[in-house]
Amino acid sequence: MIPPAPRFRTSLPPIDRPRFEALLAGVNQFGHDPDTGGHNRPSYGEADMAARAWLVRTMDEAGLAARMDAAGNVIGRWGPSHGPCVVAGSHLDTVPDGGPLDGTLGVCAALEVVLGLRAAGWRPQLAIEIIATAEEEGRFGGMLGSQAVTATIDPAWLAAAADTHGRTLTDTLTAAGLPPQRLGDAARPAGDVLAFVELHIEQGPVLEHLDVPIGVADGISGVCELELTLTGEANHSGTTPMSLRADAFAGLAAFATAIEPMLAAHGTNESRLTIGRVVLEPGFAHTVPGVARASLVLRDPDAEVMRALRQACERVLGDVCRPRRLAHQIVERSWLDPVRLDPALADRIAAHAAKLGIGYHRMCSGAGHDAQIFQRLCPSGLIFVPSTGGVSHAPHEHTSGAHLEAGVRMLQAVLVDLARCTAA
Ligand SMILES: [Zn+2]
Repeated sequence: MIPPAPRFRTSLPPIDRPRFEALLAGVNQFGHDPDTGGHNRPSYGEADMAARAWLVRTMDEAGLAARMDAAGNVIGRWGPSHGPCVVAGSHLDTVPDGGPLDGTLGVCAALEVVLGLRAAGWRPQLAIEIIATAEEEGRFGGMLGSQAVTATIDPAWLAAAADTHGRTLTDTLTAAGLPPQRLGDAARPAGDVLAFVELHIEQGPVLEHLDVPIGVADGISGVCELELTLTGEANHSGTTPMSLRADAFAGLAAFATAIEPMLAAHGTNESRLTIGRVVLEPGFAHTVPGVARASLVLRDPDAEVMRALRQACERVLGDVCRPRRLAHQIVERSWLDPVRLDPALADRIAAHAAKLGIGYHRMCSGAGHDAQIFQRLCPSGLIFVPSTGGVSHAPHEHTSGAHLEAGVRMLQAVLVDLARCTAA
């Protein structure tokens, strides 16, 4: 970890709002759909690659020695051309019909901070690199850019990954001019990156609800996806008395109503249990459902709590199925451990908020972010600004101008500290 700067700076240069908004608009000219108002930059597609080329040009013209690495990450650098650096940024790709901020905010904020400090005559002792990561949103599974930088790509996943249209990741990379066999070139050696800081929209309602402009993430929830199958007997809805049914949906409904007490007994404030998809078979209005299939996604920042909830789900599902003469099965589709971000860096970020007089809330992120992957390489921090109405991944995703400015000022203060910037 980088030692603290000799003292806090109190006279940081102001954020240039028009320049910052021009950067956001510059990225968002690519993939914008005027009909929906949404942004479509699926990773490595035409719009995504055009946005990356635009960013390389923009940073190059600003003298930031921009390049695209082997994974499609765009990287600009300010300060010493050799030696370790501090990295700030986020991702440029979007979900289908995504919003204008999401990852774009963190990239443009990092660039605005660097341009502002440089214009005001500041100099960093450690280089600051601005990164726009690739394939964060999950067209092929997600976090590929940051996994390439941290050398943590699973080769089996890389070989098998495909999007929902069956297009493989390796073909897509090749078509984008990024040969998959070169992905290893994007890896950064240990000690090369001293810290990573990401500014992102919260994508949830907590900060708005608390009326606080800044969130400081301590970690990112783990995610476990389960597939539940309840099997009874399909039968005529008129001739089969209620007492003689083996109704698979009745079992699932009983399980769903047990979720809240289960969370109260075994979960925390950060726990989430979600049934997001239900399929009934045969799926006919006049037939008692013989089979109910449901997805169940479990999240918590603590792996022990996740395990306790998973066990409780199995127990409760058994309890509701037995008296209804239903067979049941739980299959684990995926398990992602929670990630704890660097506690010292989170404290340091919070200290900057206090110093700037900006209200903040320590929290856990319910969504995945590049910062959790960078934490494998270096101390990593994640700063949130509120999402209006808690909305994200939608065209009307929005954060107020005042909150955006608070976020950029936070990133500026943290980068000045970590890169030991000094005024001329
Ligand atoms: Zn994002």
